[in-house]
Amino acid sequence: MKKIVVLTSGGDAPGMNAAIRAAVRTGKHFGLEVYGCPFGFQGLVDQQLIPMTPEKVANCIQQGGTILKTGRCQAFFDQETRAEARRFLAAEGIEGLIVIGGDGSFRGASILAKEGPAELAVIGIPGTIDNDIPGTDYTIGFDTARNTALQAIDKIRDTASSHQHHFLIEVMGRSSSFLAVDVGIAGGAEIILVPESNLTLEQIAKKLLQRRSSKLSSIIVVAEADQPGRSVNLAAELQALTQMPFRVCILGHTQRGGSPTTLDRKVASSMGYLAVKALLEGKSQLMVSLQEDSYTLQPFPAENASPRRFKSQELLEINDILCA
Ligand code: ADP
Repeated sequence: MKKIVVLTSGGDAPGMNAAIRAAVRTGKHFGLEVYGCPFGFQGLVDQQLIPMTPEKVANCIQQGGTILKTGRCQAFFDQETRAEARRFLAAEGIEGLIVIGGDGSFRGASILAKEGPAELAVIGIPGTIDNDIPGTDYTIGFDTARNTALQAIDKIRDTASSHQHHFLIEVMGRSSSFLAVDVGIAGGAEIILVPESNLTLEQIAKKLLQRRSSKLSSIIVVAEADQPGRSVNLAAELQALTQMPFRVCILGHTQRGGSPTTLDRKVASSMGYLAVKALLEGKSQLMVSLQEDSYTLQPFPAENASPRRFKSQELLEINDILCA
């Protein structure tokens, strides 16, 4: 293998740059030519390759976002468009592709690799702030996002407690509640409102009313649960049940940005390195995964696999005790 391509696809996540940097510099170390493809699969459709020298990735490990840009590419669902991209890669002598993104991006890469004409090995690096990819306990960006959300919660708590306000703070995560639970615990949330919780809205209202005399302000962390903005309706419903006013803060895309944390830079650096090593060892159709503190290579998630879901009821019970 002489030439490989790295691209970022789907939602951006802090730490993607550290993974790009690691792939580029590991590739150089082992004598590979590494190219970047801008804007995810769109760059393949547009036949754009950027030679990635080690200097090109200088000074990016601390930057959020992705220096290669990312995006969603509808055209890539079309078989003839992918065939065109494959012919382009074959003509350029590209034999390996590293895709940094979510399971959708891995599906696109996997289909591309299977279609021919020449051999194309693909390795995925999981990158999403949602931490919801089946087959890995960790995805690049999650730690930065939870720290960003936590800082916001701490700030809102200052004003909530000064004014004796009750707040619903909605965090991202798509259908998974990992972000909400982690920042809820760490932020001392009075309630963590996630689909996995056994509490009904009526029970939550009762708790808030019972604690009313001792808790003059409160923070309710809400998982977006595939319905971004749902906390606006929840606030209205809680208000109707309790006759207490609730303010809403949707943290939104602030959670996607910012300088990656130590953990994200470290995991991304290892995963970038391991992805190149996997290609050099002739591996393909695999994702670098972190499970129980060890890196492994795992098959891409099955086409119909559900997102990884939060399971630890105990954490919710612990929070309920700690925030009584
Ligand atoms: P993520 O990687 O964050 O899960 P998406 O699910 O939006 O993001 O997928 C990113 C891109 O991957 C899509 O815009 C598309 O270009 C490509 N992709 C996803 N699924 C497929 C598929 N079944 N066939 C071809 N390309 C796909």
